[in-house]
Amino acid sequence: MTILPYSINKREAWNRFVQESKQGTFLIDRNFMDYHADHFFDCSLLVYGDDVDESDVTDDSLIALFPANWREEEKTVYSHQGLTYGGLITKSSITQTEVMQIMQKILMYYEGYLGAKAMVYKPIPYIYSRVPAQEDLYALFRAGGQLENRSVATVVSTAHPLNMRTLRIRQAKKALEHGFYIERIKDADSQSLAEYWSILESVLMEYHQAKPVHTLEEIALLMHRFPKQIKLFVVRNTDRQIVSGIVVFETDLVAHVQYIASAAEGRKYGALDLLLRHLCNEKYKDKDYVDFGTSTENGGHFLNEGLIFQKEGFGGRAVCYDAYRVELKRNRLQKMTSMASNAEGTKAIKFLDLKTINETYEPELSNSILRAMHSGWYLLGEENKAFEQEWSNYLGVSHAVLCGNGLEALVLILRAYKLLKGWADGDEVIVPGNTYIATILAIREAGLTPVLVEPSLNDYNIHADECKKALTQRTRAILAVHLYGRISSDIGELQQLSADNNLILIEDAAQAHGAMWQSRRAGTIGNAAGFSFYPGKNLGAMGDAGCVVTDDTELANTVRTMANYGSSIKYVNELEGINSRTDEVQAAVLRVKLPRLDQDNAHRREIAQAYIRGIKNPMIVLPAWPEDEEECVWHVFPIRCPEREALQAYLREAGVQTLIHYPIAPHKQQALSALEHGPLPITQRIHNEELSLPISPIMTMEETEYVIRLLNKFVK
Ligand SMILES: *Cc1c(COP(=O)(O)O)cnc(C)c1O
Repeated sequence: MTILPYSINKREAWNRFVQESKQGTFLIDRNFMDYHADHFFDCSLLVYGDDVDESDVTDDSLIALFPANWREEEKTVYSHQGLTYGGLITKSSITQTEVMQIMQKILMYYEGYLGAKAMVYKPIPYIYSRVPAQEDLYALFRAGGQLENRSVATVVSTAHPLNMRTLRIRQAKKALEHGFYIERIKDADSQSLAEYWSILESVLMEYHQAKPVHTLEEIALLMHRFPKQIKLFVVRNTDRQIVSGIVVFETDLVAHVQYIASAAEGRKYGALDLLLRHLCNEKYKDKDYVDFGTSTENGGHFLNEGLIFQKEGFGGRAVCYDAYRVELKRNRLQKMTSMASNAEGTKAIKFLDLKTINETYEPELSNSILRAMHSGWYLLGEENKAFEQEWSNYLGVSHAVLCGNGLEALVLILRAYKLLKGWADGDEVIVPGNTYIATILAIREAGLTPVLVEPSLNDYNIHADECKKALTQRTRAILAVHLYGRISSDIGELQQLSADNNLILIEDAAQAHGAMWQSRRAGTIGNAAGFSFYPGKNLGAMGDAGCVVTDDTELANTVRTMANYGSSIKYVNELEGINSRTDEVQAAVLRVKLPRLDQDNAHRREIAQAYIRGIKNPMIVLPAWPEDEEECVWHVFPIRCPEREALQAYLREAGVQTLIHYPIAPHKQQALSALEHGPLPITQRIHNEELSLPISPIMTMEETEYVIRLLNKFVK
């Protein structure tokens, strides 16, 4: 499927499709719309069945049209604005599933490319649709649309009219007896048009405190441009004064009556009865419908029952003209079609679909990259500075220093403390045995000795008891790792233990962006923390980036200098530093993504909770739900299963991708074969049994349920 915005060279194709579809008969002729597009930036769309680019689409493959306008200041798309009529127009052979997909594409186009926040959708009333299904509304409900406004129009079906009320007939007779007569005003007669428009304006002012949508100049121009479609009928008295009038917008099927108004004399002697009766019984008896328009008052807030009664008297029936409002939320839009695609058997649940995730930040993401790229400043610039500010504000910490990646963030912290505290080579840092190897490599890189301790099977994190056992004269720091996004349930004790033994508590927060313990974000609990913005982390760049955060000003300054070749003044090198910097482009990307971090983490929690509630299989060990849900941001959803390989293969067969975090324990890696350590049976067990289920900000609840059903059916 390909979506293209309307342009003037597609006018012929548009008009032909409208004629052939016989759907949505009201004023979606592009001639009208082009006129109105001058007033509202036009964002009508053409939908083609093929998946091709612009130059290759053929008019034959048109499957749908979507007429719409765009209000930039409100960031809202209207499927009906001014004179254009809204509603999706499709080929009659289109199925419900396809309507859903079309609407999803259209809404995502508006959200993504236009930056629209909302759409107001006015569906085509069913009587004007030769395809009477309301699948567009179903699609809208799935996108979260809600009825915002309902008005009632009265429509006479010329083939099946109700009986005209005798009161109306009597009034029309009275008008004739009074000498009233009907005249059609041609656009050349600008004086009569002006005379009628001033009656209309005063009536609207008096009864609705409103002005007509069109000014006199605009309606004059429209009548001049579209003499066949827009007609003004008036009723005159014996002095040739205009006493009533209406404007009709004609289409092939329908005469739409608009701008009905009567001066006092016209009202008294039934001028409108004469006129409307004439239109229904004579002038437009060959049309399918005469639409008397909606009957509201007070700016559209109340139905005018009297007016409805009066219009119904000409033989009409009620038809709803509704307006739905849908807030364009990317997450919600993505979920619209998931049921439909599941029903068709295409189940492919990726572990983490970074491409799609990053697309949800468009167009801001591309704009920010271009902004950074075109600034002409590529490292240590304004984007770095701004993100450091935003990130430290978010965390509630005094200093954030961007660097090359998560590994280097930890290396920089350890090297800086080593320098500031005078630690010796080989001094010891306590670290969980089950961490990602980066944590251990960082300690070694800083010339210190990692002392591996066993984690708890409950939260896969280190606890004070195990750390106490590992304390020696040379212990300088504890490096707690918030593995899988979870802060150790023992973090308070670890703080205490560090304080009691004059140790530095460092957090490896590379998996825990946004997690919170007792109102403190992960990364602000210990003396310093390292973050990684590797693309797959909960807050990920589009390349490498990392950050050191701390309240310790001396440490922050040392880290900043050390990361920049040991230099704080250009070409003056105080320390033997390294080169570890974040690109301006990456900082710009992170600035776009940070504001949605909490929302994304909340969605991860929702999935994790569904997994924990739904998975019931004695072969599977689920992670424990933390005491306070804020303590975990579910970077990974780890389960354990003694039959892990069989389970992974079973899920793969069913289209569900899983990963193992991590298949080989660090102490079993060849790279660390020189590392001394005691027995680590718990660590080993985790590495043998762990399996990570898909979890991400864009994973839907339907997908989650699908994974749950599969897991519950798994037998050895
Ligand atoms: C990702 C990660 C790192 C390393 O981050 P990089 O940016 O890839 O260098 C360190 N520790 C843990 C726990 C991680 O998950």
